[in-house]
Amino acid sequence: MIEITIYGRGGQGGVTLAKVIATCWFARGKHVQAFGVYAAERSGAPIQAYVRIDDAEITNHNQIRQPDHVIVLDPTLIGGGILAGVKPTGAIILNAPEPPAAFANGFPGRFVATIDATSIAIEHGLGTRAVPIVNTTMMGAVAQIFGLTFDEVSATMIDLGFGGANVEAARKAYDRVEHEKLPGVTAHLAVAKVETEPVGLLDENAGGPPKIRTGSWATRRPERQTLTPPCNHSCPAGNNVQKFVQATARAAYTEALEVLLETSPLPGICGRVCPAPCMAACNRNEFDEGVNVRELERFVADHGEWPAPVTRVWRERVAIIGSGPAGLSAGYQLARLGYQVSLFEASDQLGGVLRNGIPEYRLPREVLDRELGFILMHGINAYTDARIDRAALRDLTRHYAAVFVATGLQESRALELGDSSGTVRQGIEFLEGVHRGVEDVRGERVIVVGGGNTAIDAARSARRLGAASVRILYRRSHAEMPAIPEEVAAAIDEGVELDELVLPVSVKRDGDVAALTCVRMKLGEPDASGRRRPVRDDAPGAEFVIECDKVILALGQSADLSILPEGNEIHGDGEVIGITAAPVFIGGDFGKSEGTVAAAIGSGRRAAMNLHRVLTEEDFLMPEEPRVATFDALNMRTVAHAQRHRGATIPRELREQTFAEVH
Ligand code: FAD
Repeated sequence: MIEITIYGRGGQGGVTLAKVIATCWFARGKHVQAFGVYAAERSGAPIQAYVRIDDAEITNHNQIRQPDHVIVLDPTLIGGGILAGVKPTGAIILNAPEPPAAFANGFPGRFVATIDATSIAIEHGLGTRAVPIVNTTMMGAVAQIFGLTFDEVSATMIDLGFGGANVEAARKAYDRVEHEKLPGVTAHLAVAKVETEPVGLLDENAGGPPKIRTGSWATRRPERQTLTPPCNHSCPAGNNVQKFVQATARAAYTEALEVLLETSPLPGICGRVCPAPCMAACNRNEFDEGVNVRELERFVADHGEWPAPVTRVWRERVAIIGSGPAGLSAGYQLARLGYQVSLFEASDQLGGVLRNGIPEYRLPREVLDRELGFILMHGINAYTDARIDRAALRDLTRHYAAVFVATGLQESRALELGDSSGTVRQGIEFLEGVHRGVEDVRGERVIVVGGGNTAIDAARSARRLGAASVRILYRRSHAEMPAIPEEVAAAIDEGVELDELVLPVSVKRDGDVAALTCVRMKLGEPDASGRRRPVRDDAPGAEFVIECDKVILALGQSADLSILPEGNEIHGDGEVIGITAAPVFIGGDFGKSEGTVAAAIGSGRRAAMNLHRVLTEEDFLMPEEPRVATFDALNMRTVAHAQRHRGATIPRELREQTFAEVH
């Protein structure tokens, strides 16, 4: 038996090469077998293919572990690894421009043959410059080394449908392949004999391998299963992460962008501010490092070509209240379905927290404006300075076929500190002031109270505005901060101090200086959120005073429910039941979504679908609960280790002076 292993990358045609080799010897009356091993079916991933040639029926179906010969299709795969298990007399046939002597040190004492198959394949227009298909070219070299006539090879190739340029390229390789010496490779293949007992499919040591013969093996029917990748499953926006990442890997950035725009109109925003649960769920975390999906999304949004909006037949008019990510996502999806969308926004600018909350150094406004512009181009009429209250909402339901309320969280939680001097500010107001350019904290000692994104953004903004010092007080521990962990780390890196397990209780201003009295906390029993409840530490010295100039409260927000009709009831899918002339849906943070941009986008899209279902009475097929591909379901054998790509960050010294984008 002769066994050959082919190393290549997806797209180079390694498995087809195995088939061509096998077919040539089949035509000589041999028993043959050819098959490939794929771990991930994607272009560029390493693959292996195997060929067996024998005079007798081949009963071994296992992967080849000790090949007689090795063929390498991709120069980047040439290395010590390809020699694993190779018999000492075997041939090593490489796609490489160098002569065989160049590999004398790498493969001492071995028979090495080389051919620059990449150049020949490109010259004959086989594949693309980025991914040349080298299999038929390599076949020419293989045929020369193994003693096939070129007539045999070309007849087989033409029979398999590889005529024209494939045959010409193979001929060139047949004539040009370089090799130092010819051992008994040719003769060996010609007089092939069964050398070993086949390895059992079951336990080969359990007393005599089962006699399984080719063709009588079908006692178990293979079943194809489609599993959902964990990144897709964990994306709150519902993005097809796998599909867009694969298109990105092919440098098809516009296609990748189109995949993202199916589910989210804000890819450049999510590509900057998303906490990226997909990255935490990535199977590669168990192998090397999770893929940097967030930065890929940002890259695609910044470098792909944005498509022209799809316009459709106008259907009914729908109204959306609130222009944060939830309202924008719903409006975009509804406009794509052909609805006439009117968007009502209380503020004088569109974007919700994306505009007024998240600072510029994390989300440049030109990115927001680009994506807003794209959404509005779908024919949405947006009205700013248009606050809708309960009466106005009722009115809208008389003029529109349906209404979606996505007004976010407008009520900031207070902390009674007994301040009447204006020392204490709300974080959301402060961030909006920063955005409008009206905040001045130069030289001040700023205290920020809270552990969420608002607290971190307020603290980092205060640093940039020239505060003398910025200190965050959080009543729980660092590990329990709800803010995005990378943001907390960045704040500390930028010089923000973090005091965990501290609760402010009162503030007194004396002239220019305010004194904030705080108490130390300790962690008690878990509360309803599952986190350990902070309780007052009674130890001596647990109460202390911090001198400061400004206190910014960032203790969380809640929804202002006064917009909803009295006596309302909310249905499971976000529909407000009864009392209005047209159906009313709620979503985004107002509808208790998870409090992230991606979750708001997903919530807006689901609301759009629900609204469409109610208005058209179309019954959509609801997707079944997907089966997720966990790491143990994957064959990582042919996946190469790689490091996560990390983007660039501006130096820390610069960050203190500017609102320019950090990453
Ligand atoms: P919003 O974005 O709050 O938009 C609601 C809109 O409704 C606003 O424009 C508001 O003016 C308008 N509105 C309110 N009342 C009315 C009315 N009566 N009539 C008309 N219009 C009205 N999430 C992340 O994923 N990553 C982050 O990095 C991140 N950072 C954050 C930083 C801060 C400071 C804050 C506050 C939140 C952050 N979040 C982050 C959370 C995220 O921004 C929100 O979950 C998301 O914006 C919610 O979207 P939404 O559309 O539901 O509401």
